[in-house]
Amino acid sequence: MFSVGIIIPSWHYWANPSKIQPMYELHFATVIDSHFSKTKDVKVSIIDLRGIRSDQQIYHIPEHDAYFYWIPKTGDYKGMVKVAGQIKLHYPKAKHAAGGTHIDIFREDCANDFDAIVIGPGEESFISIIKDCRKGSLKKIYKADYADIPYGGYPFMRRHYLPDTAIVNNLLFEKYGADIRSTCVLFSRGCCFKCKFCVYNVPSIIQMKSPAMIENEIKYLKEEYSVQAINLKDEICIPISRDTAIPFMEAIGRGGVMWRGQTTVVGITEEKMALAKKSGCIELAVGVESVSQKVLDIIDKKITVEQIKHFIKLCKEHGIKCKMCLIFGLPGEPENIVDLTRAFVEEVKPDYVSLSGLDPVPGSDIYRNHKRYGIKHIDENWEKHAHLLYRFSDSEEVGLPFEYEKDTSWGKAFSREDIIENIRRMQQYLRDQKMTY
Ligand code: SF4
Repeated sequence: MFSVGIIIPSWHYWANPSKIQPMYELHFATVIDSHFSKTKDVKVSIIDLRGIRSDQQIYHIPEHDAYFYWIPKTGDYKGMVKVAGQIKLHYPKAKHAAGGTHIDIFREDCANDFDAIVIGPGEESFISIIKDCRKGSLKKIYKADYADIPYGGYPFMRRHYLPDTAIVNNLLFEKYGADIRSTCVLFSRGCCFKCKFCVYNVPSIIQMKSPAMIENEIKYLKEEYSVQAINLKDEICIPISRDTAIPFMEAIGRGGVMWRGQTTVVGITEEKMALAKKSGCIELAVGVESVSQKVLDIIDKKITVEQIKHFIKLCKEHGIKCKMCLIFGLPGEPENIVDLTRAFVEEVKPDYVSLSGLDPVPGSDIYRNHKRYGIKHIDENWEKHAHLLYRFSDSEEVGLPFEYEKDTSWGKAFSREDIIENIRRMQQYLRDQKMTY
């Protein structure tokens, strides 16, 4: 029997790393199990390092023939390399393979840290790695194209790899009831937009599970875990195309659970919003990023301030709570960004606001072409890089591992200290309004 351990990173940058569930680790475990289900000669486990001090992690890692790491966030990279190093000392025969966006971007460096790296999607590559490990012919690079590996072509993720407490909690919907059993799902992956600060748009097309799969997954979650509510981790939870959105939401509706998710204002119509409500949607988080049209244009958000207002209005009309997601520190911010944002919040009255600081995260256009955005310096300590920090608590890492030039193409830019101060002022205001969570 060949054994594989898939490592969940510590997610050290979050106030409560156990609140959300590890979607990709569960997905890859399911994919591997499903592939070897006939031969039954591969055993896959998930090793959960969340909340475990780095000097204690090795005592929570049993021996396996191979360890897999999926690293979409640069902030996890250094920690994962340390974990792999510890494992190599304790279990020197094991092989280590890593994939994810960070590996896609820094493939040469990463190839030095792992026995094999995965470029592109992991499904078929991880299967090949297992086969090659057993034959003793492991290669350095395994490469595939997202266009050939549809997310919907694989079974929905099973959750039995982790204890029930790591799968279901009552935190995700705490605003809506004290004890709502909830969990995260990922019905699609990828995003078709190209916002300049983002690296979550991998792949650059949206790959969806079928409506039947979605219905079956919800049924499974209800039967096995008594789940009452689901948190969609999809980048765009209401598909842009009407023809996709309608059967998608109807499938969720047949599941008979409450749901929330994040989406864009693009393509939202009265009809879609009504169906979202009917299918159990109670809250939509929306990537507004900035209330300054100039900033929206610089980051190529492809939305207008008027569209944002319309979206929030539709939410209100249909009884769906709206959480507006903002980023401070984006290029092009006017000097009065705090007052401007406050005035916008007072005008449109979203139910909740989530505010984070910009990270010019490796892989994003802002990182690649930072001079073009007036950025003088980006900190290359990877541990400081994670997209969307500082949202939930002052104890979360502040982020902002960069500095603007004093004068930029849009005028005077904020210093790092200015941006932190703007975030603190705005966070305090939002807390006073009871708009944060
Ligand atoms: S910010 Fe959201 S909409 Fe923009 S590219 Fe990233 S995932 Fe897509």
